[in-house]
Amino acid sequence: EQAEWGELKDSSTTSADGKHFDIAANVGTPDDLGAVLDNGGEAVGLFRSEFLYMNSAALPTEDEQFEAYKKVVAGMNGKQVVVRTMDIGGDKHLPYLPLPEEMNPFLGYRAIRISLDQQEIFRTQLRALLRASNYGKLAIMFPMIATVDEFKQARAIYDEEKQKMVNAGQPVADNIEVGMMMEIPGAVMIADKLAKYADFFSIGTNDLIQYTFAADRGNEHVSYLYQPYNPSLLRLIKRVIDTAHQEGKWAGMCGEMAGDQVAVPLLMGMGLDEFSMSATSMLQTRSLMKKLDTTKLTGLVDQALDAESNEEVIELVKKLGIK
Ligand code: PEP
Ligand code: MG
Repeated sequence: EQAEWGELKDSSTTSADGKHFDIAANVGTPDDLGAVLDNGGEAVGLFRSEFLYMNSAALPTEDEQFEAYKKVVAGMNGKQVVVRTMDIGGDKHLPYLPLPEEMNPFLGYRAIRISLDQQEIFRTQLRALLRASNYGKLAIMFPMIATVDEFKQARAIYDEEKQKMVNAGQPVADNIEVGMMMEIPGAVMIADKLAKYADFFSIGTNDLIQYTFAADRGNEHVSYLYQPYNPSLLRLIKRVIDTAHQEGKWAGMCGEMAGDQVAVPLLMGMGLDEFSMSATSMLQTRSLMKKLDTTKLTGLVDQALDAESNEEVIELVKKLGIK
């Protein structure tokens, strides 16, 4: 098995019928990069930039952020790095940035909502990212986008900061993709509209599941509603992927589900382009993908979308008889 792992590390991710998928990594700090490369990561699909803010006693400066982004972007040697802008709020707090007391923090002031409201924090982050774009292949995405207007506002601020740098003669890469996380069912329903402005979608299933089933992701009393294979969720996911492709965009996933061995055959059958997961899941997932023939998975997807329950879908996937 060790030998197989070694070979897998340096091979690309291809299904049994020769279809290519990208296996990318979720990271929290530049220190995670070693594990990504050791496990054959083809990209970074999610850099959770809020850890820079959480591991700091005050708001990180533009220079501090630039150094951290540069390290990851340069360290990936030209492979794409998707940095998510600050996703604070919900269950993530900063001692130096007081947030309002809320009845429902996960439905409240968090992520892009804070960035659009406290624009100086957002602009500083964007400038640091734009500077880091010169060291590799950077992509940027916004968390918790619910409406077209939010995305347009965020993108306009980004365009403004970029233009200011260009006007000042500072170098900026010209191939930066700007996309968004798909974490809110309402955004999924208008994916066609959002795709007019966003370069890509990355499905954040950890939040998409909690908002689909209206069940707090950290509340054990309702944890039975964490149902990644429930057809309601699968239909939302398929809609994101199909819509992205219709509009000529790509779709990835960076929630836990992307590295889930029951979900992977379903997501391959739906044509998900990028699977972003913790570094420790990457080789196992690549190994599984090599065994699967995507032409045989479309039937599985149809059956799963038509099932009644999470459990029924698990049984359908088990019938594939993989492993
Ligand atoms: C998600 O919601 O699936 C996601 C990747 O973001 P986070 O887990 O950081 O909220
Ligand atoms: Mg999320």
